[in-house]
Amino acid sequence: MIEARHVTKKFKRVRAVDDLSFDLQAGGSLALWGSNGAGKTTLIRCLLGVFPAKGTIRLNGIDVSKKGKHARAMIGYVPQELAFHDDAKLGSAIRFFAKLRRVDVRQAAQSLALVGLSGHESKRVRDLSGGMKQRLALAIALIADPPIIVLDEPTSNLDSSGRGEVVDTLLRLRKQGKTMIFASHRPDEVITLADQVLVMEQGRLVQQTTPEVLWPSRSSIRSLRLFIEQGDEHHAAEILREGGFAVNHANIGLTVAIEQHRKAEPMNHLAARGIIVRDFELLRDVQQDDEPEHPVRTEPMSEVLR
Ligand code: ADP
Ligand code: MG
Repeated sequence: MIEARHVTKKFKRVRAVDDLSFDLQAGGSLALWGSNGAGKTTLIRCLLGVFPAKGTIRLNGIDVSKKGKHARAMIGYVPQELAFHDDAKLGSAIRFFAKLRRVDVRQAAQSLALVGLSGHESKRVRDLSGGMKQRLALAIALIADPPIIVLDEPTSNLDSSGRGEVVDTLLRLRKQGKTMIFASHRPDEVITLADQVLVMEQGRLVQQTTPEVLWPSRSSIRSLRLFIEQGDEHHAAEILREGGFAVNHANIGLTVAIEQHRKAEPMNHLAARGIIVRDFELLRDVQQDDEPEHPVRTEPMSEVLR
């Protein structure tokens, strides 16, 4: 279904995507996992063929760089930043996009039903919850019934109930056989939605693996934040990744998603390679769905795992 070979995209000196290859079967679901700046958004843009990149990407055998329009017609894309007119009503917004894509407006109604928004047509966009807005974006992406859905951090701006709505909707679409690629910072989402994970760092593919390998025990995954001498952080992240740990180079320290009963392992692994962990803290359980009434930390999980 999707075949990427030696994809490279440079912005001046920065190799945002660096010689990256992967395959995804029809009906598969692939998560892009990596810190901020790892190249996830750029890779998504390469898939959409929005700018020239080296290497080849084929969707159902069609070369994105040669037949961009044809290839893009196979993708429903939900960008990271949504742009809707706040005054527009949901029904007219989706009809507008149906006309733009030259599909029957009846398909707009089907698309709304697919994301569970039927009956909300007369609501104004500004009155929708975050989860509903995100599902509207998904409905728009689905209008022409594309076989592939591509989403860039679809839940990063949502609260826990909005996240639940979006994840449930995406799960339903998966069961209908859609092929999916999405960027995410949340282990719980990746575990629920993906069957494969591309671990990316500085544009490179570190490994193509599965959620089961990254997080062997689906329950009791904890987020551990490690504090290391600043100059050593990058090296430490590499060592942990090579050791099979799911790590994000966060704004503060390194965040490792780890099973409850293995919490000391990342520190031992680093110590064995001569890297000293100065301090650590345990963030709240990433599997936990409800926000605590009095949250201990104010950052949303998406920030913490960055
Ligand atoms: P991610 O989505 O994983 O956070 P991005 O794909 O946005 O990462 O960015 C990858 C790298 O490419 C970063 O170093 C970023 O600064 C750089 N980059 C992304 N888009 C542009 C652009 N339009 N111009 C210059 N540099 C860019
Ligand atoms: Mg991004």
